[in-house]
Amino acid sequence: MCNYQQTLHDHYLDPHHRGPCDDATHAAMVRCNENNCQLEFELSLDGDGIILQAWFEGDGCQTCEGLASMLANTCEGQPQTAWTQLSFAHWCQQLGWSAEELLGLTPCCGLPLLALQAALRSPLDTLDDDLADGTSFGGPSLREEC
Ligand SMILES: [Zn+2]
Repeated sequence: MCNYQQTLHDHYLDPHHRGPCDDATHAAMVRCNENNCQLEFELSLDGDGIILQAWFEGDGCQTCEGLASMLANTCEGQPQTAWTQLSFAHWCQQLGWSAEELLGLTPCCGLPLLALQAALRSPLDTLDDDLADGTSFGGPSLREEC
């Protein structure tokens, strides 16, 4: 029995920051089609690009939810630039685990990192961006001719 499986199990049962993030500035959801795991990360970044808070929600297996919990735990307080380019293999190195062994467990073990990186690329629109209602876009309507 590998100790990382026990660690993942512990995180799965008692996750760090599972739930919605208050004051989220970035968010994204990523899905693994091979086994239908799905994870969403919600992040709160400050003006300097520091990850103040990382929360996740998901519908995943023990492995990817456990990893998401560990990821949420470790990325907080760090600059987003430390994570945007990080490879899965490098992240496993930081954890002290073998990427090959994790990938042998399940294809979705890269999902948490992908979801975090997708969230970092996905700032949430706030306040004054409402093109959706279209009333002021492109000026007054000219479509009145018969
Ligand atoms: Zn999974």
